[in-house]
Amino acid sequence: MLEALRKLSEEVSSAENLDRALRLIVRRVREVIGADACSVYLIDPATNERVLMATEGLRADAVGRVRLRPDEGLVGLVCSRAEPMNVEDAPGHPAYRFFPKIGEEAFHGFLGVPLIHQGRTLGALVVQQKERRRFTEDEETLLITLAAQLAAAIAHAEAVTGFERLARGHHHDRPFPGISGAPGVAVGTAMVVYPPFNLAAVPDRAVDDPEVEVRRFLAAVERVRQDIDRLEARFDRDLPQADRALFEAYRLMLDSDSIVGGTITRIDLGQWAPAALRDTVEEHSRAFRLMDDPYLRERVEDMRDLGRRILERLETQPGPPVHFPEAAVLVGDSLGPAAFIDLPLERVRALVSRQGSGSSHAAILARALGIPAVMGVSDLPLAKVEGKTLVVDGYEGRVFVDPSPAIREQFQRLSDEEHELRAELEPLRDLPAVTHDGHRITLLANAGLRSELEPIRDNGADGIGLYRTEFPFMMRDRFPGEGEQTKLYRRILQHCAPAPVTLRTLDIGGDKSLPYFPIHEDNPFLGWRGLRVSLDHPEIFMVQIRAMVRANAGLGNLHILLPMVTTPAEVDEALHLIGRAHRELQEETDEELPLPRLGAMIEVPSAVSSAAAIARRVDFLSIGTNDLVQYLLAVDRNNHRVAKLYDALHPAVIEAIERVLHAGARYGKPVSVCGEMASDPAAALLLVGLGLNTLSVNPIDIPRIKWVVRNLEYRQARELVEAVRDLEEAHQIRRHLEGEIERLGLGVLLRAGK
Ligand code: PEP
Ligand code: MG
Repeated sequence: MLEALRKLSEEVSSAENLDRALRLIVRRVREVIGADACSVYLIDPATNERVLMATEGLRADAVGRVRLRPDEGLVGLVCSRAEPMNVEDAPGHPAYRFFPKIGEEAFHGFLGVPLIHQGRTLGALVVQQKERRRFTEDEETLLITLAAQLAAAIAHAEAVTGFERLARGHHHDRPFPGISGAPGVAVGTAMVVYPPFNLAAVPDRAVDDPEVEVRRFLAAVERVRQDIDRLEARFDRDLPQADRALFEAYRLMLDSDSIVGGTITRIDLGQWAPAALRDTVEEHSRAFRLMDDPYLRERVEDMRDLGRRILERLETQPGPPVHFPEAAVLVGDSLGPAAFIDLPLERVRALVSRQGSGSSHAAILARALGIPAVMGVSDLPLAKVEGKTLVVDGYEGRVFVDPSPAIREQFQRLSDEEHELRAELEPLRDLPAVTHDGHRITLLANAGLRSELEPIRDNGADGIGLYRTEFPFMMRDRFPGEGEQTKLYRRILQHCAPAPVTLRTLDIGGDKSLPYFPIHEDNPFLGWRGLRVSLDHPEIFMVQIRAMVRANAGLGNLHILLPMVTTPAEVDEALHLIGRAHRELQEETDEELPLPRLGAMIEVPSAVSSAAAIARRVDFLSIGTNDLVQYLLAVDRNNHRVAKLYDALHPAVIEAIERVLHAGARYGKPVSVCGEMASDPAAALLLVGLGLNTLSVNPIDIPRIKWVVRNLEYRQARELVEAVRDLEEAHQIRRHLEGEIERLGLGVLLRAGK
């Protein structure tokens, strides 16, 4: 059974369009279940009707004609209840809706299960039988299993079909849903960023001169042929006959017309070589995969391996020039912070990632740069979007591909409103963040990219509350040396002096990896991260601390922050190394080197519990809510499937923040918040009420948060904390806080998506 399932999923996933995918499903599912009829109904988002899309058993001309309102028929019930219905005699059921002339009168037994993809009901999969009997439990569980597997393939096929309509000149006003990563709207041309040597990830790209591209491809093929000869010569004596046959098989594939000829035909049609190769390999793999002979099925892997080798050779030679659009939307499967490396950031208008969520570091970076981002757009057919016009709605988390002029205008208006709001807030730049009754809040900026230093000054920050040093580390091909780091930190400290700058020591692991120091783990967010790495590599940590301390000479505005602290003992170990680095440096120079103030991040539940012990050892605490929320709520900050469970206003988070505040107060150590929570106006209101006097936020959000603070009485904020104390759910707390923002007359902040 598992084998049949695997084969069906593969077939459906590789079907060229929705229509074919659905026809395949009804045919195969009818066979597997042994039913008399099988049909798929999909919900038409425009009318909300359930439409018969494919059938095997009912009359073929019923397809597209049978349309049920949400409350109509057994199919309507399956979709609206999102649960299976197993009925012995369908025509006798009160919800049954009879359609004449579709051949349904012969059927009695009915089993329908919903097709659900990522929480969205797409439609229903139905089997029917002439006999008057309920389907067995085994049949029911089998159909549920099939539907659960097929739903993702159907969603994907739906998306691809949307693109086919596009190709026929239609506009595609149905957005691809995702998760808001960074607010704002933008229109731009899609530019796909894809990992190297990965055939499946290669996007479509047109070439101007197919002849040149064919030559490039043939040169790559020739190189691979030589590679294979070399490999064979090296292993000749040691390899058994069976393995040697592999080289022969590769050579045969290269000589036959299948890969080479197929790819050249596609290049001649205007496709660039990597995508032409991708489609050719996929076409042949599909044919092999569907064969019943296991030996031939295994050849799929050989074919793919050969494809990868040719791609590698193609990608290591210069290809056709890439035109980076003036207004680009970066699109990728799993965009991490590293995607920003080497890009002309001034031309990037927005970011779209198929994976990740609003708390992923790519989204955080987008916010820091002031560009909208939509994450978790899992259905976007990456291969097809390059060069298309995208409208990115970072407020609602959705992406339109080649939308109609009406949609574009609507988003242009939103974008204008956003600019108006920014202009309105501009005069706040030089004013302090102080409540009506004189309570002063320090607003610091989060940073990590060089290009953010200007926005920090422009937005009127009181300093830098979090500088993520790992970002500049990512932009290199090896660890930066002490001199290089000193220069970098010095520039930042000088730029802000005398205002404080908090440099956080290297926080790699999780979703931040260095190209030259890869960390592969099954559970990276619970693995080797942050301070854990630094303490295991004192040689790297010491160089960083020395550079920071040297950069601070004559300035004295440096604060050092330790990420991912889990126990007080780790702080002791770090303090020991920092003390040693400072002493050594002091011995090397006559210049007075001030010892920087040292802080610990509280972003792990155990650190909340040990906050007093940690506070005793350091000068300040900084709460990193991005991680704290993920660890407290057990919600991976990078996983779009659980993104809706990730909410910094969960009562558990608020309670944890209060505990840290008490711990800080006990030892007279200041506490700040540097997670994204502080950039959210509603949450900032609560944080001020809780007693936080320092918030570190995205530079672009400083004017909004300042506006909230300046329209508030401190007393009001404190009362708010009491008002939400007994609320049990994050959404109730959010509603209450947003109501307060409306009452303060600042509702435009919410409508602007924040
Ligand atoms: C945090 O976890 O809240 C934080 C500020 O650090 P990062 O987002 O870099 O993990
Ligand atoms: Mg963190």
